[in-house]
Amino acid sequence: MIYPIVAYGNPILKKEAEEINEGENLSELIQDMFSTMDHANGVGLAAPQINKGVRLFVIDSSLMLDEEDEEKGIRRAFINPIILDEYGDNFGFEEGCLSIPEVRADIIRPEKLTIEYFDENWNLKEEEFSGVTARVIQHEYDHLEGILFIDYLKGLKKRMVQSKLIDISKGKVSTDYRMIYPVR
Ligand code: ZN
Repeated sequence: MIYPIVAYGNPILKKEAEEINEGENLSELIQDMFSTMDHANGVGLAAPQINKGVRLFVIDSSLMLDEEDEEKGIRRAFINPIILDEYGDNFGFEEGCLSIPEVRADIIRPEKLTIEYFDENWNLKEEEFSGVTARVIQHEYDHLEGILFIDYLKGLKKRMVQSKLIDISKGKVSTDYRMIYPVR
């Protein structure tokens, strides 16, 4: 099943997501989240973006890398993740979000992280990620905390995206995937 994607302005995107009970059967939801992400040509999707306020996201960072890149991407689900540490040099990278179509911005974040999470078979993992994969994880993890990448913009950059955000929250945006606009 392909879910519609919650658009900017919907309060669920600003809420902290709830932890999932260990052992809960999530295989269908995870499969649907991958399908929804793929259908929208996304590289990551967090549960709040399909209107489910739980701590789960999926990513496919391989789509952002090609054969020449040293880094190999991953396609994976993260359940109840906790970022334990972020480190390395800060670097700027252009981010976008399926919930905020047509808006892109350079966001600065640390290059590496260590994360603890359950995989889709409820195996507890602790792993280090860097580069593009770390960046996608940071962006999706923020969704579980109710944080959007545009929240990091300040001053002029923030003002530059403001009218676009208003348009999105009013449904004045066209996407090739279905969206849920805020109820007014
Ligand atoms: Zn996003």
